Amino acid sequence: MAELAEIGLIGLGVMGSNLALNIAEKGSRIAVFNRTPSRSAEFVAEAGALAPAIIGCDTIEAFVAAIRPPRPIIIMIKAGEAVDQQIDALKPLLSGGDIIIDAGNANFRDTIARFDRLKDTGLTFIGMGVSGGEEGARHGPSIMVGGTQQSYARVEKVLNSIAARYEGDPCCAWLGEGGAGHFVKTIHNGIEYADMQMIAEIYGVLRDGLGKSSRDIGAIFGRWNRGRLNSYLIEITEKVLATADPETGKPMVDMIVDRAGQKGTGKWSAIEAQQMGVPATAIEAAVAARSLSSMKAEREAAEALFGTPAYAFPLKDGAPLMNDLELALFAAKIGAYAQGFAVMAEASREFGWSLPMPTIARIWRAGCIIRSQFLDEITKAFTDKPDVANLIVTPAFSAMVAESLPSLRRIVSAAVTAGIPVPALSSALSYFDAYRQARGTANLIQAQRDFFGAHGFDRTDGLPLHHGPWGAGG
Ligand code: NAP
Repeated sequence: MAELAEIGLIGLGVMGSNLALNIAEKGSRIAVFNRTPSRSAEFVAEAGALAPAIIGCDTIEAFVAAIRPPRPIIIMIKAGEAVDQQIDALKPLLSGGDIIIDAGNANFRDTIARFDRLKDTGLTFIGMGVSGGEEGARHGPSIMVGGTQQSYARVEKVLNSIAARYEGDPCCAWLGEGGAGHFVKTIHNGIEYADMQMIAEIYGVLRDGLGKSSRDIGAIFGRWNRGRLNSYLIEITEKVLATADPETGKPMVDMIVDRAGQKGTGKWSAIEAQQMGVPATAIEAAVAARSLSSMKAEREAAEALFGTPAYAFPLKDGAPLMNDLELALFAAKIGAYAQGFAVMAEASREFGWSLPMPTIARIWRAGCIIRSQFLDEITKAFTDKPDVANLIVTPAFSAMVAESLPSLRRIVSAAVTAGIPVPALSSALSYFDAYRQARGTANLIQAQRDFFGAHGFDRTDGLPLHHGPWGAGG
């Protein structure tokens, strides 16, 4: 009989097939299975030199039998009901001590429910976020693990072997019990939405405010990638903008319909932030912007009705403006990350996870879509002050905000003047302005609430009078 596999993987789509090759390459024998069975044989046939380390299975029974107990089994399929169906199909075939690892983009609430469902079965469950897309899965993703610490200890070695490395450290960590790993992955994606939207807004200023070509804008992003904005997303933005359409020879990006897709993780981030009462306005703005982008026909009709804004962009092109744009993007990025980390801090309290903030920033430094130089600074800031209320009040980040906020203000003002939409940049600016305002305007809201609903308020002088003399309308 052939040697048994050390690990199994179900789902040979984009992510699963690359993850399986990564595992085989790092020296673990792996069994694979796919809903459409022909894919397993096809996958092994395409695996080249790695084929001897892969056991392709046609049936789920053969798959389970090909793995040495206790079996670690990674499920990398479409998130949602399909995962429950897959777990149900596996359950009768598994034995005590086997570990099911859901590596898809699950909603962390589903992950918590799956833990509960598998609690008394003798099986172990791990909810694991994997970031880095196709390339990351193949050569080293960032891996965010949720489950018991003991179950993580059993798969730590193989996960560390396939994870991305940053200065020698694997970008993989146990982050907490239950849904912790999937929650952190969700917030990672929420931050990714904000990052991408802000880049797109700066692209909009350069394209529509300054009339620059895609190629010229690409070169600008290329320069920024060598500075403080150095990151994977800026790097690919440069490459995307420099790419020509093979059909027309025009910039590829100019031939793409301006309708952005979304699969749910950005929306979940915004929903969870709202549920917990933590402002994550840049993430919310980015999710809303994608929704608005998909309303193409309505936007076309509205432009026909209202016309395009005929306001000139008020800032002069040149080096000072380029510097302002770079700093504006940097300031807004700080706002988005500060919000994402604040959401995780609150979730950590609410779900009793003790999420390790410096570790999260550390495992995002390589392998994942939001990897950047900037995450080094975040790791340092949280290592120095793990319980800080907000990233922007740490010494390093408050200095960066002080330096870059005037640029964000100038760019947002100019974009607003010219009628260029900058919802994520402007929400980040308002977040800073509201966060550092010791006396805001909610006193009026409290008065209104008390007027129509007798909801009461606290007085500034501490007197125990909690309702206003609103008269007949109160
Ligand atoms: P994909 O290429 O579309 O592949 C989907 C896989 O799921 C296929 O193997 C498919 O099998 C299987 N599947 C679908 N419905 C199923 C069902 N009802 N029962 C059993 N298997 C089913 O998707 P992907 O991009 O690899 O994504 C897989 C997971 O990783 C998703 O949760 C996704 O959100 C997550 N993820 C994706 C990325 C990314 O960049 N793509 C990054 C991180 C995480 P068939 O071949 O039979 O259709």
